[in-house]
Amino acid sequence: MPRITCKVCGMVDEGNQDGVLLCSFCLEDLDKTRSVLNVRLESVFARMERNDTMWRDVLLRDDRVRTWWDQVQDRPDLHEKAIVVGGRGAKLVQAYRQYCAEFDACSAELERIRGAQSQINTATLNEVGVV
Ligand SMILES: [Zn+2]
Repeated sequence: MPRITCKVCGMVDEGNQDGVLLCSFCLEDLDKTRSVLNVRLESVFARMERNDTMWRDVLLRDDRVRTWWDQVQDRPDLHEKAIVVGGRGAKLVQAYRQYCAEFDACSAELERIRGAQSQINTATLNEVGVV
């Protein structure tokens, strides 16, 4: 049986005959595994909310910066110029890049969670003999 990497906890383990990408510990108690995944899901939602709040706070801090941002948000060339010039524009662009990096990290985590949920669903269906 080829070894697998568990989609929930990342542990490398012996594969199972159902072909589910869950380790033996995660397969043992699917309800517990599902609740562990729900905690991760709530955590990533909280991170996304904090990230949105942080970005909104930065934007609303200064009307002039907000006005400038409305004009340049879709102009990465101007973002680069703002970084070179420095000052408030540079700080805003840096905050925006942090926002985007956190957004991408959260999206990647959501994708991993979605993949893990799919494996749990398959394991649950196998367990009750539907598939
Ligand atoms: Zn596992």
